[in-house]
Amino acid sequence: MASDDHSKRVKRQLEEAQKGEFSGKFFINRPRKHLDPHIAPQNVKNGECRLCGKHADLSEDHVPPRTMGNRQARYARSWIKSVTGNAEFTAERRFPKGVVFRTICKVCNSSLGAHEDAEIGSLYSRVRWRMQTNLDPFNNYTLSVKPNLIFRGIMAHLCAANDKSITDNFDQEAKDIFSGKRACSSTNWNLYYWPYVDPRIFVMKAGYVGFIGNAVSTCAFYVLKSEPLAFAFCDKEVMNFPNLKNYLQPDDNLKCDIPLRKHPADRNPVWPIEASDRSGTIVMTSANSFGMLARY
Ligand SMILES: [Zn+2]
Repeated sequence: MASDDHSKRVKRQLEEAQKGEFSGKFFINRPRKHLDPHIAPQNVKNGECRLCGKHADLSEDHVPPRTMGNRQARYARSWIKSVTGNAEFTAERRFPKGVVFRTICKVCNSSLGAHEDAEIGSLYSRVRWRMQTNLDPFNNYTLSVKPNLIFRGIMAHLCAANDKSITDNFDQEAKDIFSGKRACSSTNWNLYYWPYVDPRIFVMKAGYVGFIGNAVSTCAFYVLKSEPLAFAFCDKEVMNFPNLKNYLQPDDNLKCDIPLRKHPADRNPVWPIEASDRSGTIVMTSANSFGMLARY
């Protein structure tokens, strides 16, 4: 009887050891999963705010904002690692209350929440309602919004994304526009938007698309996808989607009607479905490129 108990215990310990758990003397080191360095958090409590540049206590910015649906626990994987294919050795980054980056100060965070995020939230609730109802299922429609606030908000959150990116042209322009040094309507960036239907959130900075046609050209892309819309900043006019840049107003609080498409809805979380109608498209990254795909 005693030896039966002993063999059961040994069997159980072996099973636990195979799962990589500590069990008495049966400790087996399985290859440990490490958090992908492309998305590993920095865990800094204070530093330079990405938006105003002041040295301050840093707060967690939701990217995308909570008003775009980023409220629940998420598990994120680096897009770059997913592409290179060694995902089995990297652990996902867990975000208990939605995808956040501790990169901006409390003052900037509250200002974003009160103005830009509120406007984005109003757009999102109306687009969700239009997508859920069967009224005019195939027709495009327009909505009255403050386009500058949406533009500034999406730009500021993308600037705040990634714990350790180096400030590039896009981030600098986001800072200048957010701080009021530069008028939103004078931007160099196109902001395309289109319907997106996948529960995963995608955040990308400094991705590049190269076109090999009669001449080789390169475009920079900054992408934020959160159901029911996808947004892509691009430094060249290459996409066949509505461009928010064309609706920007001389005053940030002015409203105008912007067009929205109901179809075709994008079901691919990681890249614009339609980078260009030109052939010979290739995707590239730089040392500062960042991409994160977050699931529930
Ligand atoms: Zn700040």
